[in-house]
Amino acid sequence: MLRIWAPAKLNLTLEVLGRRGDGYHEIRSVVAKLALADLVYVETGLGGLDVRCDHPGVPSGPGNLAYSAALKYFEQLGCGPGARIVISKKIPVAAGLGGGSSDAAAVLRALNAAYGNPLTMDRLQDIAAQVGSDVPLFLAGPLVLVEGRGERLSDLPGATRRNVLLIHPGGWLSTGVVYRRSDGLPLINPSSQAVAAAMARKDERAVRQNLGNALEAAACDCHPAIGRLLASLRRAGYTAHLTGSGPCCYVWDADPSVVRHVSEMARVHGWCVLVTHTLE
Ligand code: ATP
Repeated sequence: MLRIWAPAKLNLTLEVLGRRGDGYHEIRSVVAKLALADLVYVETGLGGLDVRCDHPGVPSGPGNLAYSAALKYFEQLGCGPGARIVISKKIPVAAGLGGGSSDAAAVLRALNAAYGNPLTMDRLQDIAAQVGSDVPLFLAGPLVLVEGRGERLSDLPGATRRNVLLIHPGGWLSTGVVYRRSDGLPLINPSSQAVAAAMARKDERAVRQNLGNALEAAACDCHPAIGRLLASLRRAGYTAHLTGSGPCCYVWDADPSVVRHVSEMARVHGWCVLVTHTLE
């Protein structure tokens, strides 16, 4: 039995560069992995495929992204499926933190390790891209530039430990709905290049100034509690942004006094907060 951590992700930038012919959106994003992680148990050498998840909002069985990943892995290997997978969720679901995609990538890594690494990283990346747009990035490093529909990855320098305060306003959002809503709205793209360069030279001020997410207006339109949350945090003087398509938001590099103050605000407003940090 293998036990593997499946980390959450944080979009430091998210640029939406247009809709492609295949219906997907062309994006560019600087993504950092977080210490917040699901726990995935993988047992091989059994007949059939059994996937269970302990979260009531996440399907067990074929509806789980980890199931699709395992099925495609065994297809590539050219043998019938043989694994039992148990997922213990710690990452908030449908929040913009990429939990399902990370579980799927963790399963690909675990199965490949269990079988003695028969598939190259390129083959694993191909399978990952078939499972979902966000899956490949979870096979890359702790800080990565993601382009295309999520399949073009470049590891970035400057991944160091930074405190991150996650603030969830409640509810959930479908990624597809937010992208579709963004088609009708003016987009304000942040500069991934500026954030990547600032991370590389460890220029905290420049990182903070260039964080941003082009989906913010669309996500706020779909789920107005996000707009209220971001406005409250910004009025209080914090640099707060949306991760992915939301509804989870974050304050970057939050020191203990910020954590205390935002936690007090959260009690008043009914938000959930989680303290975590980026991976080195
Ligand atoms: P992204 O930012 O990649 O779109 P997200 O963080 O917003 O992802 P997830 O937590 O990955 O969202 O869940 C999205 C949907 O996928 C959920 O509605 C859930 O039912 C389904 N799902 C399938 N497998 C999983 C899994 N292993 N963990 C979480 N959700 C899963």
